[in-house]
Order: sequence, then structure tokens, then C-alpha cells
Amino acid sequence: MPNEYAYEKERWRQVIYLGQIYTFESYEEFRQFYDDYLRSPLWREFARQIKADRPQCEAEGCGMYDEESQHNWGQGLHVHHLHYDTLGEERDEDVQVLCPHDHNITHGRPAPMPILDPFSKL
Ligand SMILES: [Zn+2]
Repeated sequence: MPNEYAYEKERWRQVIYLGQIYTFESYEEFRQFYDDYLRSPLWREFARQIKADRPQCEAEGCGMYDEESQHNWGQGLHVHHLHYDTLGEERDEDVQVLCPHDHNITHGRPAPMPILDPFSKL
């Protein structure tokens, strides 16, 4: 998978939500819009359906299942947007199912810390 972080760094400046173009002056402004969208029933239902149909991390050589992801990373699989041009009306090919580790790698962020001991948070 190509590391698209450099491109992505500016990609948030313009997104298309339900066919309408939205432009953002700052990343914070975009993030607020995007976080609101990720909390919407529209996105939640789409992501739920995607994960039901595609139950494994799709990063090359990974294939982790949701339960394994919960166990290793403390959270389930993510549904990653390959672009922001079809928000609200994503098609199957607009997203990729990723474990939290591969999602971070995709965004050029540091890998998350694995949960080595499930009782360490007590
Ligand atoms: Zn993975």
C-alpha cells in the first residue's frame, strides 16, 4: 500500500459530502466536520455493513479479524476512507477495512501500542 500521507496532508482542504463541495481553511475546521460525520447514523450504518461484508484487515499480509484487533489493540477494525470525494454516499471501493495498526501506518502515524497485558489498565 502506498504511503499517501504527503498527498493526504492537504486533501482535507476540499471534500465532497452528498454531492456538495466543502472547503476548509484549517485542519481543525475539517476535523470537526469529519468527526461529526463519523458520528452520524449514515456513516455508522455504512461502516457496520462494510465490516459485516469484509471482516478482515485488508492491508497486505495482515488479514486480522475484529476480535483479534480488539484483543491486540483495544479497538476493533476501522473503515478507512481512500478519499473524501463521496462522503455520505460511499461505495464499497471508496473505503478499506484496516486494523488500527495498519490504519496508522497508512496515515503515516506511529503504530499504536499493543495491549500486552489485558489487565494492565486496571
Ligand atoms: Zn492490519
